[in-house]
Amino acid sequence: MPDSPASDLTHPAHISFRTRFTGVFALTFDDGPNPRVTPAILLRLRELGLKATFFVVGERITRFPEGLAMALADGHALGSHFYHHLDWRGATVAQLHAELDLCQHTVDDVLGYHYPLRQVRPPYGHISDNLITVLRERQENLVLWQAGCDEKNVPDLSVDALCGMLRDHPELAGWEGILLMHDIHPQTVNLLAALVRLALERNLLPATTRQLLDAITAAGPASAR
Ligand SMILES: [Zn+2]
Repeated sequence: MPDSPASDLTHPAHISFRTRFTGVFALTFDDGPNPRVTPAILLRLRELGLKATFFVVGERITRFPEGLAMALADGHALGSHFYHHLDWRGATVAQLHAELDLCQHTVDDVLGYHYPLRQVRPPYGHISDNLITVLRERQENLVLWQAGCDEKNVPDLSVDALCGMLRDHPELAGWEGILLMHDIHPQTVNLLAALVRLALERNLLPATTRQLLDAITAAGPASAR
């Protein structure tokens, strides 16, 4: 299935923490782009033959603007992780529109063309009624996750050693659906490979968040929560 920003959804779909996916896994990376880590993640994804979605922070794009085009050239998707990495739960509808517009304009300025950020992940996964309203008005999709990594607390080990360690952590090694990682920590590179190896051992099929959104949309509005 093509993962193209040009293919329009007929209505927005929302993937929440409660959304359940069976037999698939999708990779997402938040908080970049980062000049040290993002290229290493892209290289590892190329080795693994997998596509991911990068939820970029608008104000961090200037640290590594090349990262956007590099990710797109490899067939990955970009999503919005807002311009400022803040808690936006108390924000008004107008403030949320302005924040998402700012991230969108920054991406477009760096790329030199309009790349619609149709996938949105608020910082910390914090949602509000106003955010849901704004996303519906913008026809954009909420994309949260089913399993999250706190890589800060994961040691920088080989892929084999990480696989051994993770087998004792079923909450991570047994996940299905969308995995949240961060392309700001060097240890994420090997952790990514280890988690993918464990997912493939369990016969999970790789997917992208775009494909998961399309599947929800195809199922009809009743399941678009
Ligand atoms: Zn974040």
